[in-house]
Amino acid sequence: MGSCWFSMTGVYAQDATHASHSTLEPQTVSRMWAFIKSKTDAPTDLAIPPIVVDETLPKNVRLMFEYPSQYAPDTEMRIRLNPQNMVAWNSGMWHWALGHEMTHYAFLLRENGWQEKKWYENRLKHHCDHEFMTITQNIAELLWEIYEKSEDRLHMYIEANKSCRHQPNQ
Ligand SMILES: [Zn+2]
Repeated sequence: MGSCWFSMTGVYAQDATHASHSTLEPQTVSRMWAFIKSKTDAPTDLAIPPIVVDETLPKNVRLMFEYPSQYAPDTEMRIRLNPQNMVAWNSGMWHWALGHEMTHYAFLLRENGWQEKKWYENRLKHHCDHEFMTITQNIAELLWEIYEKSEDRLHMYIEANKSCRHQPNQ
């Protein structure tokens, strides 16, 4: 392993006629990152991981977090976003999914003593971890305060549970 990704679910894909291009709002991203850092006792000056829009991602992958591991030491540490998929989810869901990936990043760095390394140890499984699930659910509440969309909030909780059920080893 060395990555976590969100794939297309289809079920929640919005009606294409209502789709609009979602963009990330720096203020919302910063707010989520500050929250994640406070919950994981991260160094306060820890920067947001690199977030890149990547048109080469497979169509069924919406976004993914990658990091160099023992098995893939050349992998870059970054979160990749699939621009083709930015129409399928609305702003709230995109921010939540990014928050999920940023939580992976914080957990990975904490496991490695917040040190920059050539490759990172990852023995802890995140998706079914109580603390990980709590933080990502808290991010749903944080976004609920901003977007006030109850369907999205429910969708975020479902996605959090699905990560555990479908990808328990990540
Ligand atoms: Zn994940």
